Amino acid sequence: MFRKMLIANRGEIAVRVVRACAEMGIRSMAIYSDADKNALHVKKADEAYRISAHPLNGYLNADKITSLAAALGCDAVHPGYGFLSESPLLPRYCARHGIKFVGPSAQSIERMGDKVAARALAETAGVPVVPGSKGALVNVNEAVKLAERIGYPVMLKAVGGGGGRGIRRCDNSDEVRHSFDRASSEARKAFGRADVFMEKCVVNPRHIEVQIIADGSGNIVHLFERDCSIQRRNQKLIEIAPSPQLTEKEREEVCSYAIQLALSADYQNAGTVEFLLDEDRRFYFMEMNTRLQVEHTVTEQITGLDIVQEQIRVAAGEPLSVRQKDIHHRGYAMQFRINAEDPRNDFIPSFGRITRYYAPGGPGVRTDGAIYTGYVIPPYYDSMCAKLTVWALSWEALVARGQRALADIVMTGIKTTIPYYQQILKHNDFRRGDFDTGFVAAHPELANVAPLRRTEDEALAIAAALVCHAGM
Ligand code: ADP
Ligand code: ADP
Ligand code: MG
Repeated sequence: MFRKMLIANRGEIAVRVVRACAEMGIRSMAIYSDADKNALHVKKADEAYRISAHPLNGYLNADKITSLAAALGCDAVHPGYGFLSESPLLPRYCARHGIKFVGPSAQSIERMGDKVAARALAETAGVPVVPGSKGALVNVNEAVKLAERIGYPVMLKAVGGGGGRGIRRCDNSDEVRHSFDRASSEARKAFGRADVFMEKCVVNPRHIEVQIIADGSGNIVHLFERDCSIQRRNQKLIEIAPSPQLTEKEREEVCSYAIQLALSADYQNAGTVEFLLDEDRRFYFMEMNTRLQVEHTVTEQITGLDIVQEQIRVAAGEPLSVRQKDIHHRGYAMQFRINAEDPRNDFIPSFGRITRYYAPGGPGVRTDGAIYTGYVIPPYYDSMCAKLTVWALSWEALVARGQRALADIVMTGIKTTIPYYQQILKHNDFRRGDFDTGFVAAHPELANVAPLRRTEDEALAIAAALVCHAGM
């Protein structure tokens, strides 16, 4: 097993990897920018090194990170998610230094990072894909022609896209003409490559994804599916496992597609195969994420497995700790991405000092955070500052537990998505387990009527005002 792991990330996911290392007896090394010198991952890791003054450059410099790892005697690098996690450069530079990368091969990352290549691979593997273009579109005329053939609405998507960005829906040829150049110039800016392709827009779909993990000795398993249909602007907000919307037969179907794809791609380590489920209950492959995902926690809660530890084991050349027949799911789990955003104000980021933080507790409650009382959330990074994951035996009990745990958190000083989630959990469709990716857009009122939470700070302010008023 490894002795020292460099964690090429920050925030809650870096803390998550520190925790896995601690349980496995591996020394953890954090890296940080100046903006992160007070960050939790720096405090929690066994050692921490300043990688750069700039808030982003250091976390994105594969050469510098791997040279540092080598100089510090690390034998492994964990990429987390975001940053360099989907760059083939990190495994390549690791190999140069004789360091193990905790993830798939550079080749797998490259192939799946290209959404068009990934679609082709899925087709070869006999996995259904969303109808669309074979390759990147060469120009707007080709785009219009193809859209007429596929039928509207269609989606223009960045070939190298990710994080819910670079996706545009077009309902007619005017919209394709209007969007094509914008889509490719946005793609160039965001992902460094202008290529855009087209998919049929699946109407009212469910986002269903399957967690897989494979070791180097031919053992490949799936850890069931997650339902990530609660999204805002193609970005996930709430994730659930297993999906309350699938039959057992549908679960088996989608999980076997995921295994089929991973096998034919000769995939190693953890990965997620994403699908859309249409109104006729057909699954379509959408993309594969070649890394640990934000929402891996819900899968851990229903299976009892530690996905990060399994990733590390596989990277070290050890077999997975389990075989498919030994993996079962029990109950339901739901994760809320606690974002520092103002739900009433179009979710604009709300960075600043957390004046008071109390993590919720009690049965079936897990928090993965990167915050503490007094911490100032820097404006340079993701607005997600914590993840609340709840688990319960039944779907009904899970919804109740989610409500209880959301009410249990104290987070003052910044605006968060917590009150918004409380509203979603009250909605009848959600409670019935009936929702698609259009749920959030279809219910803008849930963001608007988010109640003010009676926090301790507010209570104190009210008490002070009363005292003044009474002239006491
Ligand atoms: P998940 O797929 O695990 O649900 P997200 O799509 O929310 O995760 O992405 C996790 C993090 O990685 C986010 O910070 C997101 O902005 C970032 N990210 C994902 N894909 C890309 C990409 N291709 N380029 C840049 N950032 C990305
Ligand atoms: P990313 O790499 O940014 O995660 P995805 O291809 O996974 O991009 O798509 C993100 C989300 O966008 C999906 O979960 C879904 O809600 C929506 N989406 C993407 N493609 C389609 C499609 N063809 N039809 C309908 N919705 C789509
Ligand atoms: Mg995706």
